[in-house]
Amino acid sequence: MTVGRFAPSPSGRMHLGNVFTALMAWLSVRSQEGKMLLRIEDLDPDRSKAEYIDFLRRDLEWLGLDWDEEMPLQSTRNGIYQTYFDRLNTYPCYCSRSELHAASAPHASDGKWIYAGTCRNLTPEERAAKGRTPAWRIRVPEETVRFTDGVFGEYGENLATDCGDFILRRSDGVFAYQLAVVCDDALGGVTEVVRGCDLLSSTPRQLWLYRQLGFFAPRFFHVPLLVAADGKRLSKRERSLDMAHLRQRCRPEEILGELAFAAGITAKNEPVSARELVPLFSFDRLPRTNIHLTADFCDFL
Ligand code: GLU
Repeated sequence: MTVGRFAPSPSGRMHLGNVFTALMAWLSVRSQEGKMLLRIEDLDPDRSKAEYIDFLRRDLEWLGLDWDEEMPLQSTRNGIYQTYFDRLNTYPCYCSRSELHAASAPHASDGKWIYAGTCRNLTPEERAAKGRTPAWRIRVPEETVRFTDGVFGEYGENLATDCGDFILRRSDGVFAYQLAVVCDDALGGVTEVVRGCDLLSSTPRQLWLYRQLGFFAPRFFHVPLLVAADGKRLSKRERSLDMAHLRQRCRPEEILGELAFAAGITAKNEPVSARELVPLFSFDRLPRTNIHLTADFCDFL
């Protein structure tokens, strides 16, 4: 059976981009008569706010995007992450932010910083002399991890040259998203991950972690970014696109109708319920380019 998930972070109210991703994940699961899980990703205490947790549930319900089971909050699962962390080949990294920038090479294609390996081979004496609490990185091999994304097709990254040794645990003890997401999806029996294409480049690292931990990997579908009619990125800062505002201005069917039309799932822009979209859904209809909202909808908001 297909098992999918919603994995929102309670760092703010859901905005239209999150709604689009949630709709795609939900339609995929419901069109296969699978099981939908909700997992609230409150891993990062600096960014998560308790008040948003319940809003996430209520906004999904209001949209008609239901789930079959809610997984425990990530903030309660440190013991589990620790168990898997202990199985991995990690090392302590003492670099400060400025040291990282000074020593890391920016990656050619997207400006991402690659860790130079400064703390990779420190001796126990050198570690002891650092006198600060370290973050923990995993040692990655010189290996290209490839996979076939259900929307974007073939994708691969070389762990050493495109990613570098990445953080699994921050110096304040918080486990990294990359580790938590792999443990949670694997232990939850998730068979398909549908999420925004901003996470496409995390997937090779995650697939490699699946392998290191002996987990069975799900299929991945990265959905295109939703942008305004003029092509500008939607962001949480744009209040008119968050659910507090949208719920005052629109019915759920109007929002879903707009998203389904923008994504090419329906031929006409008219109000529609989530259920009505189930038989029309296919990933094949999604473009690989940004999805533009209509000008009428943007003007209306
Ligand atoms: N919590 C992440 C987000 O809200 C999603 C992570 C994932 O789907 O893997 O962007």
